Amino acid sequence: MRREKVDVLIVGGGAAGLAAAISATKQGVKTVLLERDRNTGGVLNQCIHNGFGLHVYKEELTGPEFMERMWEELEEDVIRPNFTVLKIDPNSKEVVTLSEDGIVVFEVKTLIMATGARERPLSSLRIPGVRVSGVYTAGVAQRMVNIYNRLPGKRVLIVGSGDIGLIMARRLKIEGMDVVGVVEIMPEPGGLIRNVVQCLEDFDIPLLLSHTVIDLHGDERLKAVTISKVDENWNPIPGTEKKIEVDTLVTSVGLIPQNELIEDFVEMDPINRGPVVDEFMRTSVDWIFAAGNNIAIHDLVDFVYDEGKIAGYYASLVARGKKFPESNNRFLRGKNIGVLLPQKFSGEHSFKIYIRPKRSFNRSVLKFNDKIIRKFNWRIRPSEMIDFVVKNLDKKDITVEVNEID
Ligand SMILES: Cc1cc2nc3c(=O)[nH]c(=O)nc-3n(C[C@H](O)[C@H](O)[C@H](O)COP(=O)(O)OP(=O)(O)OC[C@H]3O[C@@H](n4cnc5c(N)ncnc54)[C@H](O)[C@@H]3O)c2cc1C
Repeated sequence: MRREKVDVLIVGGGAAGLAAAISATKQGVKTVLLERDRNTGGVLNQCIHNGFGLHVYKEELTGPEFMERMWEELEEDVIRPNFTVLKIDPNSKEVVTLSEDGIVVFEVKTLIMATGARERPLSSLRIPGVRVSGVYTAGVAQRMVNIYNRLPGKRVLIVGSGDIGLIMARRLKIEGMDVVGVVEIMPEPGGLIRNVVQCLEDFDIPLLLSHTVIDLHGDERLKAVTISKVDENWNPIPGTEKKIEVDTLVTSVGLIPQNELIEDFVEMDPINRGPVVDEFMRTSVDWIFAAGNNIAIHDLVDFVYDEGKIAGYYASLVARGKKFPESNNRFLRGKNIGVLLPQKFSGEHSFKIYIRPKRSFNRSVLKFNDKIIRKFNWRIRPSEMIDFVVKNLDKKDITVEVNEID
């Protein structure tokens, strides 16, 4: 077993981890980035569509192009591929990893968690019926098509209209599959509106809102699915069932932040499903920072990149023994607030706040402790994160809420 001392250890080499490495190495501290895969980039590797980097690089890039830009920015080679982090000891600050050379233990001054998210499995849909081949999560289907050049089948129905489902509908259609439609249990699409237009409408792929799959049919391979309309409580409406012949079902029913390594000793936010962080991306354990899809699911890589850079910078300061303000003030969820980042703040700096409303509003106001601080004269929706900079905040807890206006 080998032991190694590092100032800043980054777990995960997706956009958040790479951005953290860019800013940590600029501070001249000993930095190591561990990635369990043989390549860095995380989900960027399989996202060969455009739409990345409009904010950060002022260009529309593909996922791999965005990743290359980050590599260019990274001044030092600190990446260690094929390293899986197995355990973090919150008392000794030791991080146990498995590499091609066996177990390596890192003694760290600070740690940045950038482990991203995993897909919700089919079982979360609770669909009765047979378990046959031909059912894939969108991420697996995307990997098959974009990386291994294999089609999952001939005729496909997609479940879930989040961005991943929408992008996969278009991708499979372009690659020659018969895409019969996308079913969405909610009354409105789960992904960005630009993706609904560019991925479905431009390709004549039907979007069936307030619908779900209620049965699978087949012997060894999927032969058909039954879909049904649902009421406002998501219960199937009898008499609306329809059997559709497909040999492939692609499920895109959400991502779950991956935090198994820290959730036993770091304060977690049950709504974001990630660690509670402050504006420095510091968790409740003062030497552990976090950024990216593991703290909350983000729709834009640019936000993930920004968080990674902040985490890298402040983790380096802590590693060098510098102190920065305590974050004793909380953002509290008031009416209609879903994802909220950060949850704590010091009140000493300006910083960005990210919010997802729980439901859509045509016109609305955002309030901090009953004071209107933002007016939205356009439709806001859960699928699009709202971001804006806050400054000169009072050093006290702030209840955040969204209210509809006429
Ligand atoms: C299909 C899809 C389409 C998207 N489209 C767009 C778009 O058009 N425009 C846009 O701006 N954004 C888009 N996004 C969002 C954006 O790409 C992601 O939010 C962002 O890339 C997530 O980066 P991350 O670093 O947080 O996570 P990830 O990319 O998931 O990276 C996490 C990394 O951590 C590693 N890891 C996890 N656990 C361990 C461990 N124990 N030890 C070592 N390594 C570990 C993983 O292997 C992975 O490489 C899309 C996302 C998806 C999924």
